[in-house]
Amino acid sequence: MLHSIKPESHGPLGRPMADAVQACVHCGFCLAACPTYQEFGQEMDSPRGRIVLMKQVLEGGLPWAAAQPHVDRCLGCLACEPACPSGVAYRDLLSPFRAVAQERGEFPRPPAERLRRWLAAQTIPFPGRFRLALAGARLGKFFRPLVPKMLRPMLDLAPAAVPPAVKLPRVTPAQGERRARVALLAGCAQQVLDPDINVATITVLARNGIEVIVPDAQGCCGGLAWHTGDLRAAQAFARRNLAAFPADVDAILTNAAGCGSAMHEYHLILRGTADEGRADAFRKRVVDVSVFLARIGLREAPRGSGRAQKVAYHDACHLANAQGVREEPRKLLRAIPGLELCEVADAHLCCGSAGTYNLDQPATAASLGAQKARAVLATGAAVVASGNIGCLTQLRAHLEKTGSPVRVRHTMQVLRDGYGG
Ligand code: SF4
Ligand code: SF4
Repeated sequence: MLHSIKPESHGPLGRPMADAVQACVHCGFCLAACPTYQEFGQEMDSPRGRIVLMKQVLEGGLPWAAAQPHVDRCLGCLACEPACPSGVAYRDLLSPFRAVAQERGEFPRPPAERLRRWLAAQTIPFPGRFRLALAGARLGKFFRPLVPKMLRPMLDLAPAAVPPAVKLPRVTPAQGERRARVALLAGCAQQVLDPDINVATITVLARNGIEVIVPDAQGCCGGLAWHTGDLRAAQAFARRNLAAFPADVDAILTNAAGCGSAMHEYHLILRGTADEGRADAFRKRVVDVSVFLARIGLREAPRGSGRAQKVAYHDACHLANAQGVREEPRKLLRAIPGLELCEVADAHLCCGSAGTYNLDQPATAASLGAQKARAVLATGAAVVASGNIGCLTQLRAHLEKTGSPVRVRHTMQVLRDGYGG
């Protein structure tokens, strides 16, 4: 059945949205893969249901408000994409739909929710501000009953302590003969919550003959803004990075899956602007660090710790589903002698972190986080590794709640430790 969306009436993002809607044949194969369908058990919180809702809104047959709660509840985990036999590009629909809704003022929110969203947008993408905000949130925990209910998830999610800031070198030379030269996105929340991830990444790259540049002028990838419908902010972040990253590198590396997947969508974010072509060329140079290392090959095999170690690998949605990266991190981890890699049951299910989903939908995020922690514990692994700071933070929080001693590490930290330093 032909859809009757008029793409031109929804601006530059109208065409990708219409194409995604048109590709759906409503077969329902995606339902079993969707965490929110599992949580809520209703069609309107499944991929197929959301596609129908968004289609009807875009056609003008349904008010935007009818779709809002179900679109809000979508994690953006993209588990529906690999499950879809028709190749529906759900990513071309969800974030553009949120952006168009917000641009038109169609998703009204209560003042406290607006304030919470504004606070997240004004702090998380800026490491200095985020560090201050976390200190403020820790203080705020003492006055929790006085804080509006809508803002309490921000207090609950603030870690008890954050590590000291680490200033990364602008250039880290390759050790031995240089095999490649790359630029690294440092990631904004990651720099605050676990700066050792970047240190480990640079150490592993340099040890494998790769020179690493960390451009000073880089900023947030824009993912947080893009996934919450703030198109103008996402465009500003994207343009900043287009200008900041040098052209004379072999690749632009990311070690946070959420950032990598947002940068892969710069062509959508800047669609219909003078920067669209530049953004399309830029995104094709963006590669997750695990993919780059697996492609180039480890020059020197890790030594391992000398003892057996069982490591569970958690697929970050924005690595596995959004970037199709599953095998490369596993291959790198398997290169560590003595490391036994094990899989987590229901690996396709999101851990519930999903950007600011933890703040916006705390009950669903907590349910998914607890399920994931139980699945990790069932593996009997001593360590769980993943490639995304959001997942690592969520896993850490939910494993700690169970009193588990399982260590939560980025793939690059496990690899760096495998080199003995
Ligand atoms: S599997 Fe694909 S085609 Fe089938 S309902 Fe889901 S999105 Fe639509
Ligand atoms: S992105 Fe995730 S939560 Fe949203 S419809 Fe797809 S599978 Fe469900």
